[in-house]
Amino acid sequence: MQNAALGALHLPWRYLAAEVRPGDLRAAIAGAGAMQFIGLNLTIPHKTPALEMVDAVHEQARLLGAVNTIVFETPGPKGGWIPLGRAADDRITGVRSHGYNTDAEGLARSLKEDFRWPDLRGAVVLVLGAGGAARAAALQLAAEGAASLFLVNRTGARAEQLAAEVTARFPAVKINLRLPPDSADLVINATSLGLKASDPSPLDQDWLKSRRPLRVYDMIYRPAETAFLRAAARAGCQTANGAGMLLYQGAAALELWSGLPAPVDIMRAALLKSIYG
Ligand code: NDP
Repeated sequence: MQNAALGALHLPWRYLAAEVRPGDLRAAIAGAGAMQFIGLNLTIPHKTPALEMVDAVHEQARLLGAVNTIVFETPGPKGGWIPLGRAADDRITGVRSHGYNTDAEGLARSLKEDFRWPDLRGAVVLVLGAGGAARAAALQLAAEGAASLFLVNRTGARAEQLAAEVTARFPAVKINLRLPPDSADLVINATSLGLKASDPSPLDQDWLKSRRPLRVYDMIYRPAETAFLRAAARAGCQTANGAGMLLYQGAAALELWSGLPAPVDIMRAALLKSIYG
């Protein structure tokens, strides 16, 4: 997806995947900066530790407690810092790493587009899970004006912790730590249950059938249809998987690195081909 976009934008860059052991993360970030990489994406388990390893942290990454995108920057001609991707080679006088988080923005854009639902204000949402992705979802939904969030997780204490964080930041949002008694405008699976084709649905199918929430989103994109999404479709809900979230977090990262609008259609086509063949 990123290389297809780089080609379309005529940027002479390449996007490569590298495995890094957790103990080597600090050295890997410093090394990439020293080699004047344009930027990095980070995934599990690096997103949270990276927060303490970058030179500057964007507010959204601080709020979400995780960095999924690093932009390497150099001092700009008029003061401040500019991305290496937008600096002339002979103007690079020093490099710092700047940590961002584009996951929550990716989720919001995907929800709006996949469900043709431009305004999430007033929504009643059930979030399953309390890990990094659930945290991004809960805080983003609260920021978008959701009226109430139901937070349900296998380990109840983690849901309580997330509830406390959302309340501290967005006191107007009503938080519950149980399944919605009536229905919901949206249910999001932010657990890793479903990554294996044999995994059961993270939510009781009777609840889905009897409450029939309007929209059901699974952050998992492979398999394309989890048991959860199958059950939701059978119950008559609108469904979407996490491919859109993956697409839009990547598009937002590319825009930070390049300062150019991401060619989203080209990225989507390359992404869907790469994950679904
Ligand atoms: P974490 O490891 O931080 O959190 C995992 C969550 O899943 C926890 O709430 C955990 O519960 C729960 N869980 C794990 N196994 C089970 C189980 N057997 N039964 C019930 N709950 C379970 O992972 P992330 O938050 O980073 O990722 C969560 C999911 O979101 C993954 O599937 C990931 O692939 C997806 N994701 C998709 C993205 C996209 O772009 N589409 C981006 C980021 C994530 P507990 O607290 O009890 O351990």
